[in-house]
Amino acid sequence: MDRVVQTAVLVLNQNYEPLNVCNARRAFVLVDRGKAEVLEHKDDSFIITPTRPFCVPSVIRLVYLIRRPRPQRKLTRRELFQRDNYTCQYCGKLTRDLTIDHVVPRFRGGPHTWDNLVSACKACNHRKAARTPEEARMKLKAPPTMPSASGYYVVAQHIALRYEWHKFIPEWELDRLLGPCTPWSEDFSERR
Ligand SMILES: [Zn+2]
Repeated sequence: MDRVVQTAVLVLNQNYEPLNVCNARRAFVLVDRGKAEVLEHKDDSFIITPTRPFCVPSVIRLVYLIRRPRPQRKLTRRELFQRDNYTCQYCGKLTRDLTIDHVVPRFRGGPHTWDNLVSACKACNHRKAARTPEEARMKLKAPPTMPSASGYYVVAQHIALRYEWHKFIPEWELDRLLGPCTPWSEDFSERR
């Protein structure tokens, strides 16, 4: 029972945008108070109460729209490498051994911001040195941007196991969330 009420439930905003992840206990309260409706149940989980068994919700949707500031991604090494799918943005190599490259070098006024930072393997970073990509004749795979400020990152740690959530996540977000960015998995080196 305790484990069941801890089941992760995806909470969608009224407009179907993922808002956060709560546990089943909290989801029951929201539904019970008429603040949310159940969109998906978890097939294999029930909570037995004195009156009747309840299916455990898997996805709920708020009946009213919550407005909140868009979540900002913190600019850290890990977040940056994750944004770039652990791929060198110059040669395309998938590696754990990445460095951070300032596209416009720092001493030339390049800021330490999402749109001036890319993941680069050591070889590419060394080759580029203190030059711009144009000067070094190195082409970026994609112009760096601030990663999606949507709420989708809240589902990241659950998404691989919760297939019933997938239809609520845009395909390109799913690709990004499920993509090759699992450098912590044992078979990472073999998969390259
Ligand atoms: Zn490289």
